[in-house]
Amino acid sequence: MGISELSALLEKREISATEITASVFSRIGSVEDRIKSFVTLTHAQAVDMAEKAEAQIVSGNKKILSGIPLAIKDNMCTKGILTTCSSKILGNFIPPYESTVTSKLLEQGYVLPGKTNLDEFAMGSSTENSGFFTTRNPWDTERIPGGSSGGSAAAVAADECIAALGSDTGGSIRQPAALCGVVGMKPTYGRVSRYGLVAFASSLDQIGPITKSVRDAAILLNIIAGRDVLDSTSAPVAVPDFTAGIGRDIRGLKIGIPKEYFIDGMDPEVEKAVRDAIKQYESLGAIPVEVSLPHSGYAVATYYVLATSEASSNLARYDGVKYGFRSEGRDLIEMYMRSRAHGFGAEVKRRIMLGTYSLSSGYYDAYYKKAQQVRTLIKRDFEDAFASVDVILTPTTPTAAFRMGEKTDDPLQMYLADIFTISVNLAGVPGISIPCGFTSANLPIGLQLIGKHFDEETLLQAAYAYEQSTDWHRRKPNL
Ligand code: GLN
Repeated sequence: MGISELSALLEKREISATEITASVFSRIGSVEDRIKSFVTLTHAQAVDMAEKAEAQIVSGNKKILSGIPLAIKDNMCTKGILTTCSSKILGNFIPPYESTVTSKLLEQGYVLPGKTNLDEFAMGSSTENSGFFTTRNPWDTERIPGGSSGGSAAAVAADECIAALGSDTGGSIRQPAALCGVVGMKPTYGRVSRYGLVAFASSLDQIGPITKSVRDAAILLNIIAGRDVLDSTSAPVAVPDFTAGIGRDIRGLKIGIPKEYFIDGMDPEVEKAVRDAIKQYESLGAIPVEVSLPHSGYAVATYYVLATSEASSNLARYDGVKYGFRSEGRDLIEMYMRSRAHGFGAEVKRRIMLGTYSLSSGYYDAYYKKAQQVRTLIKRDFEDAFASVDVILTPTTPTAAFRMGEKTDDPLQMYLADIFTISVNLAGVPGISIPCGFTSANLPIGLQLIGKHFDEETLLQAAYAYEQSTDWHRRKPNL
């Protein structure tokens, strides 16, 4: 069950918060050794939180999330609870403070079952870059769950939690949600506070929900959204009730179909599922309109210059002094060098080198500055397209879940897994992935909807209408 169903049962006292937590942990006990969604399980804390939630409910003070177990990606700081970013360099880091998003969940009475696995520092598309172990796709445990929020998406798909939070810099919520057959939403840049989110690329990172239904995504967004004085990039924009548009019909809604997103190399089963979804939208009264996003072909290259540049700067703080892991050396410089050499994995080092290069004098104008200029063109593409449509529809990923190890030797192939999601972060607009079918091998396929800046309401309305007219979200992996 999802948040909305369980909330109703809790309200009627047909189930208790402690029973829900016990049931989640019994599920974790039976599937976690095959899926490996969690870096840290917080059973003792969860039992405690569930008891408090139960007391809230019994005394008539039920909050929106009282007694609901939500898994948190391990790059969001939880006070007193290990937060590793799936990196050896933060392998023993216990934050002395709480991130804004998890503070808001705490205020609403949530239960934390554990912290989920990710590609180290959220750099990757398969969770294979985790410094600890790889999470597996619940639909086929020989395959990857996507990344970087692979642990959160797999935990939701495998019913090891009721919903989860992920973070999305170039697709890390939407891509694993698509590959695991669940709902994943990246809000508008600035909609949700990043305070306490371990920074990867600060101008792109955004936290969002991974859920079993569109309604649950709206419920979680209602809670985590809003201006935060602790994050100067969080936007001072009013937060509407995101569940309000849910259930409203979508007749006359204009859906943009970007011609650049139906590319060679896209899996034919994915293409068919997405084309069928367009027909389904038409039958609901929406109007498909062809649009063009002419600079789409530059998005991956632009992203990998900008994201690595920002990462090289953000990751300078891990020096063996202030956080976590330290390797001893004969002097200070050697201690720095050894700590970073042993603490970071190969992909993180690759990106620090790429980003440092792009930012260095002599190369800055040719790479970093040029990429910033192209980013503006990509953002304008969306503004132009949104002049004539309400939402844009694309596949979330070019293929369904790939096999473990299939792309680990070829970083450029791995980078293409986000070809349809990356532009959305560069433009700062919101995007959601919802289930839209299965391949003949029974692997989930995701449909991406993209909205105007701060128009998550329309996005959720459109996503809900499709979800409710199909059965895809009801299928479960056979574990
Ligand atoms: N796969 C992309 C990358 O490796 C996006 C990751 C993310 O969104 N955090 O950077």
